[in-house]
Amino acid sequence: MSERVGFIGLGAIGTPMARHVARVFDTVVWNRTVSKAERFATESGARVASDPGALVEECAVVITCLPTSREVAEVIGAAGRAWRAGHLLIDATSGDPAGSRRNAASLTEREADFVDAPVSGGTSGAEQGTLTVMLGGSDAAVGRARTYVAPYARKVEHVGPVGAGHALKAINNALLALNIVAVGEGLAALVKLGVPAKRAVDVINASSGRSNVTENLIPERVLSRAWLRTFSAALLDKDLGVALAVLEDAGVASELYPSVKRFYAEARPKLDPGADHVEVIKRIEEAAGVEIR
Ligand code: NDP
Repeated sequence: MSERVGFIGLGAIGTPMARHVARVFDTVVWNRTVSKAERFATESGARVASDPGALVEECAVVITCLPTSREVAEVIGAAGRAWRAGHLLIDATSGDPAGSRRNAASLTEREADFVDAPVSGGTSGAEQGTLTVMLGGSDAAVGRARTYVAPYARKVEHVGPVGAGHALKAINNALLALNIVAVGEGLAALVKLGVPAKRAVDVINASSGRSNVTENLIPERVLSRAWLRTFSAALLDKDLGVALAVLEDAGVASELYPSVKRFYAEARPKLDPGADHVEVIKRIEEAAGVEIR
């Protein structure tokens, strides 16, 4: 028989993930802003816990989806002695490997298990239940975690020990950021030279430079001028910082990653606080004196 699942962090991506979990498992949720948890409970039939400790008391399996590993550490600490042998924390946050190893160690003291389980596929993938999940942890803990991530996943891979999932996720997202900046700069130049942006994107999408950025993000957010907000620039900037630490830990020198990290760090204060990750292209447009349309 499956265990009751606790879900902590009903943000932009956590909410649709939790909705899939609640369709399959008896689910208890906690969110810092209580009104969001109450709204979620009304829609999904899940129950709301009064605090992280109360949630952990009644759920052997807990999924977290928070901004960084720091907030995960806070929640682990807040639940304190409620953690015990048999508990499993599945951390869907895009965290950092060192923070995850510390979080795993603090749970090990209580004989509980930890698996890092970051996701890729965006809010639309979460809504459709087609996310990619990168699992880091022991064979036993990962084997157990698979059952609970399955409701929102299409591809689930065990990529290594604790921290490996978060390392892979950070590199993946750094590649996304590199691509956004490179595509933005290239399209700004083409538009200035008289090539309509839509025609340029159509050609690139039938050529070797195509990517998720050119096929999806640019048409739906930039060419349309809709500038949808699904994943904040602040969170992608955080992921770039994690990717730099991953490269440094591995002793791999890089030209590109630090330069894109600098770009995001400098662009962010000039954008709205809630700006989406693609909105850095507005900074490229301003600097070039052109709109990509
Ligand atoms: P949001 O900013 O939309 O939501 C963050 C969630 O964390 C909210 O539930 C928020 O609570 C909670 N939270 C923030 N600070 C604290 C705290 N100190 N203590 C307790 N809870 C806290 O983020 P997303 O849902 O977009 O992202 C969550 C994670 O998933 C991040 O690591 C992100 O990088 C990753 N991710 C996001 C994707 C996306 O497309 N959005 C795609 C893939 C990964 P409250 O409601 O009170 O603010």
